[in-house]
Amino acid sequence: MNLVAGKNILVMGVANDRSIAWAIAQSLASHGARLVFTYESERVEERVRKLADTIPNSVVLPCNVTSDEDIEKLAGALKEQFGVLHGIVHSIAFARTEELEGLFVNTSRDGFALAHDISAYSLVAVAQKLYPLMSEGGSIMTMTYLGAERAMKNYNVMGIAKAALEASVRYLANDLGQYNIRVNAISAGPIRTLAAKGIKDFNSILKTVEEKAPLRRTTETAEVGDTALFLMSHLSRGITGEVIYVDGGYHIVGV
Ligand code: NAD
Repeated sequence: MNLVAGKNILVMGVANDRSIAWAIAQSLASHGARLVFTYESERVEERVRKLADTIPNSVVLPCNVTSDEDIEKLAGALKEQFGVLHGIVHSIAFARTEELEGLFVNTSRDGFALAHDISAYSLVAVAQKLYPLMSEGGSIMTMTYLGAERAMKNYNVMGIAKAALEASVRYLANDLGQYNIRVNAISAGPIRTLAAKGIKDFNSILKTVEEKAPLRRTTETAEVGDTALFLMSHLSRGITGEVIYVDGGYHIVGV
């Protein structure tokens, strides 16, 4: 079954083959989507291009989400090359390592602003410039974590940014629903990726999930990829403004 055949889908947030965005790209590609990848900076460009080369007909473009100019250029390039966009996968976050340990109360003003700019506002900025290209309706999704709703050790300012991200999902869904554009988030269980490396004691978080989650195992990126495929497809047409948990059920368990 080709769930997303004929759809042009933008995938933002591939850094390497462990990135959640990469697993999402594989699920989408295996169901016929035409993919556009963006990369953050020249530092990761070559890696992203190498990965994209394994997916036929995919396109690679630059976009650092802290730059309005980059996002505008991306919108221009997508309009020129595709005309119509059907999906956006936003799988981007950043906070300084020193803000991801110790006490949240010590968060600096600029560390707070930076984490929010890259991890939450970027979804709004990208949706703002790209939704006009979704003239046939569309689906936008982002990645969040349980730390948005619970105070989790060392997640700190990223939890606050994820709370802002989840609220942005609801407001964007309410704005864009009139154009048949849906906006949702996947709340994934902890997965060992480059971004997760920044979080102190990540191994003990994984161990707790293995012990406590109803499925008694940690989350695999492919599980997130397949839920993203569902969100990008016609099958999820009635769902918007939602946070879907792909965490082996961990969030339902009492501590
Ligand atoms: P990752 O490091 O592979 O992906 C993070 C991506 O953000 C990278 O591709 C990086 O280049 C990009 N990025 C950072 N700053 C950017 C900028 N200024 N402009 C453009 N891109 C920028 O790690 P990941 O775990 O795949 O993270 C993807 C998303 O999933 C993040 O939003 C993360 O918070 C979320 N998430 C991760 C986990 C986990 O345990 N790994 C769990 C739940 C949610």
